[in-house]
Amino acid sequence: MSKKKKILNDSLIKKNDIIDLTIEGFSGEGSGIGRHEGMAIFVPLTAIGDKIKCRILKVAKNYAFGKIEELVEPSSMRTDSDCPYFEKCGGCVYRHISYEEEQKIKFDKVKDCIERIGGLKDIPFEPIIAAKDRCGYRNKAQIPVGLDKDGKLIMGFYAGHSHRIIDAKHCLLQPEEFGVITDIFREWFENYGDTVYNEETGKGVIRHLYLRRGEETGEIMVCVVINGDRLRDADKLCTILRENVPAMTSFVLNTNKEKTNVILGRKCRTVWGNDTIADELCGLRFNISPLSFYQVNRKQAERLYYKAAEYANLTGREKLMDLYCGAGTIGLSMAKNCEKLIGVEIIDAAIENAKVNAAENGIENAEFICGDAAKAAEVLAKRGEKPDVIVIDPPRKGCAAELIDTIANMAPERVVYVSCDPATLARDLKIFDEKGYKTKKVTPVDLFPGTAHCESVALLER
Ligand code: SAH
Repeated sequence: MSKKKKILNDSLIKKNDIIDLTIEGFSGEGSGIGRHEGMAIFVPLTAIGDKIKCRILKVAKNYAFGKIEELVEPSSMRTDSDCPYFEKCGGCVYRHISYEEEQKIKFDKVKDCIERIGGLKDIPFEPIIAAKDRCGYRNKAQIPVGLDKDGKLIMGFYAGHSHRIIDAKHCLLQPEEFGVITDIFREWFENYGDTVYNEETGKGVIRHLYLRRGEETGEIMVCVVINGDRLRDADKLCTILRENVPAMTSFVLNTNKEKTNVILGRKCRTVWGNDTIADELCGLRFNISPLSFYQVNRKQAERLYYKAAEYANLTGREKLMDLYCGAGTIGLSMAKNCEKLIGVEIIDAAIENAKVNAAENGIENAEFICGDAAKAAEVLAKRGEKPDVIVIDPPRKGCAAELIDTIANMAPERVVYVSCDPATLARDLKIFDEKGYKTKKVTPVDLFPGTAHCESVALLER
């Protein structure tokens, strides 16, 4: 080994080293970051200002991961976590700091992405729309089911960055009823049950318990995701649930036979009750199928949609396009203020919902098309559609580049971009900018208190 390399190695940290560290920032995933000899050290469950003794767990080329060995001086951001599972769970990352600080972190994250990744400076940011409820806001749970090493049923959540199931009674983000249903499921499993799916072997039946609740209607859907077409004693589970959960309006089996991380399969069979559950949003009633996307935080979604409507600035004369429209919620919430609405979405169950949702709300100026947003937009452009305003709300990976091209060619006055990932939003805003669409305003919206995720809505003008 050359002398130079040796010196370099001597100064490098290794696994199990204990170093003094001050936390100076947060990563996009919500882990605290400190610097040691120029190297970024990621330490989960810390807060900016913490002085810690850090045990190094893993060293990569320019960064390392560690954990708190000793909290020497706690940050003033800190508060006591209200959740007994917080330290193990991969869901929340900010339960140990005050909500006020969480809002600042999320705001800065969105701003930083747009300035750094998007290269867009001097964009006017509006204040983050903070949530009123830090708990019980989720209307959906996908609870993994497994067996521990003694063959005992475990269900709850995955540990951070893994598929190891942590057995948990209840999640603070979910409504109380979900805890009751989980208890009933456990009891049914003890008495009847079926085999449990094993991710490694691909054998066994029960994969996930998938729950949804219409917050305004109170309706609950219980869905068991199974590796197969039949769940043994499903009728017994349904009967016990009907006796104990009067709000249940739908009991569904979803078949997923694939060896995949994707939770839901494409096939659903309603065993009892309705094929959809209903909820109310922005004064409209929406029917949602198990396979259709629906915002998990209804109250905050409503405020997000109102901000999107403000940005869309409709007067009643515009043609509006809603791309990645899910069950039609955003577009339909604006339909009375536009001349015509066209929604596009890839999941056909969601498009079926959107059509029914338009009809049931007496909205007659809406058309819904099932297909890939980029391809459908191209077809619509060829058909001569000239929307005045386009709303886009893509999944985390953001927009397809071809779609941005097609949108620019359709030349709407305004684009309202709703995004659940600030990094891909920033990437796409940059492309829009190059095509003549300037970002005029951005509002971060906290749809997911406690977690690292943050929603945003941006207004772009030609
Ligand atoms: N705007 C809706 C849904 C947003 S989630 C709401 O607020 O509820 C993003 C949606 O994009 C999902 O419904 C998903 O099924 C859909 N989607 C994903 N990829 C797509 C694609 N390539 N083309 C069209 N829709 C797509």
